[in-house]
Amino acid sequence: MANCPPVLDFTTAKAELSKYDRLDGVSAAELMQTAQFGGLTYSDFLILPGHISFPAGQVQLDTPITKRITLKTPFMSSPMDTVTESDMAIAMALLGGIGVVHNNCTAEEQAEMVRKVKMFENGFIPEPVVLTPQHRVADVKDIKAEFGFCGIPITDTGKLHGRLLGIVTARDIQFLEDDSLPLEQVMTTDLVTAKAGVTLEEANQILRASKKGKLPIVDAQGNLVSLLARSDLLKNQSYPLASKSVVSKQLLCAAAVGTRPDDKDRLAKLVQAGLDVVILDSSQGDSVFQLEMIRFIKATYPDDRLQVIAGNVVTREQAASLIEAGADGVRVGMGSGSICITQEVMAVGRPQGTAVYQVAEFAARFGVPVIADGGISNVGHIAKALSLGASAVMMGSLLAGTTESPGAYFYHEGKRLKKYRGMGSIDAMEQNTKAGDSGSKARYYSESDTIKVAQGVTGAVLDKGSIRKFLPYLHLGLQHSLQDMGVLSVQKLHEGVNQGSVRFEKRSPAAQLEGGVHSLFQYEKRLFA
Ligand code: IMP
Repeated sequence: MANCPPVLDFTTAKAELSKYDRLDGVSAAELMQTAQFGGLTYSDFLILPGHISFPAGQVQLDTPITKRITLKTPFMSSPMDTVTESDMAIAMALLGGIGVVHNNCTAEEQAEMVRKVKMFENGFIPEPVVLTPQHRVADVKDIKAEFGFCGIPITDTGKLHGRLLGIVTARDIQFLEDDSLPLEQVMTTDLVTAKAGVTLEEANQILRASKKGKLPIVDAQGNLVSLLARSDLLKNQSYPLASKSVVSKQLLCAAAVGTRPDDKDRLAKLVQAGLDVVILDSSQGDSVFQLEMIRFIKATYPDDRLQVIAGNVVTREQAASLIEAGADGVRVGMGSGSICITQEVMAVGRPQGTAVYQVAEFAARFGVPVIADGGISNVGHIAKALSLGASAVMMGSLLAGTTESPGAYFYHEGKRLKKYRGMGSIDAMEQNTKAGDSGSKARYYSESDTIKVAQGVTGAVLDKGSIRKFLPYLHLGLQHSLQDMGVLSVQKLHEGVNQGSVRFEKRSPAAQLEGGVHSLFQYEKRLFA
């Protein structure tokens, strides 16, 4: 006991800290120096907790994704054909993020998906199931059995934009025994409709007054353009975080293109459909093709309304080329994606933590936001990507398997799954020959090769339910994470990291084990309720 230092007065605890010449832990810059000759990724480090003086709900997640566009949440969905088509892009934008529509399809198909996002109006069903007068009662019953509804508009073509002739509702077929009757004999033709351009509020009033279950919306020629359902009135949510254009109030939409000559025509179609952000989609973005494409876009669409995110890159040198050419945002990641075999096959890439830090630290000097793309598999990874300087994250596997991702669910060994595949998988490169030189083949520079070298795999992910629940979980989880760090916003996080007040620590392999669930015989991992 004789050698023990004296016990200090507890009221001097904070003052005592000043005897240390630096804060506990290390700064982000020091963390990266510890890995000078080897990269770090998200699992390799932790952020030390800060002081909490506010509730999690107050944490602001507003963040720029390009020089001109700021979102209310840092979430982006990957341009992959098993992740982002119009349903995903609509949901992402409603919830405060942005979806990047993939380009593994024809330019026309991609433009149509962008158009759907831009034309989306909350509450209206943009793509109702439609039948012809010649369809049978049995067809309606099949639809009821499969989708659970049977208020079906009837048009001359059996498609949206055909001339509206009637509507078949549950009441029209309830007591019918002859399922072979054509719908023209049973449909209601005494219709209450609303004209295209009607606001949701006005349409709701018409629907209420009409006492009908469905309100078809028609254009000046009487063609069906959308539908409003009484059952949706009650569940109509409002979306305070929605990513919208300040001018048009339409949802924001991003889409991917390649850097081939054809892509200039593709881009023109996307811009015509209302595109806000174009992502130059390449696994190795530092190429003469991409630099030329950036310059072309800046010269052809000079008013900055169309923002360009270039990439992918993982080094400062790569980023410098893109920034100098005029990129409004830079996408970072090579080989970190869950479906990716680039590092294995090409021997090129970089651990994602280091890649994000090095590029973001450099790009910030020019006011160019960085998007951390790939390898995000939980809320913690999002927080870590932001703490290394990223302004937003791009997610593939985390959003695949949601109701809004393309593709149908299937069962395997009792589990409900959806397909998820890399755009550099043989499967994706072969499937869509319609994409010509612009689709997934071009992302991996293999458009003219006779042998395709895969950089991705095909797999499946578990059903995650609707993105409308999942994204709010990511949002709230991230707010809690920033609260634990003691920072009130993404901006404050970046400031704290730059000033060295947000502290980090490297994790040994044993520390990583300790930080996961361990020492249990069995457990169930439910992430939110
Ligand atoms: P995840 O979120 O970890 O699943 O990664 C998604 C990201 O992986 C995408 O945004 C792309 O940048 C990247 N990616 C997509 N397809 C491939 C591929 O086939 N090989 C390598 N990377 C890919």
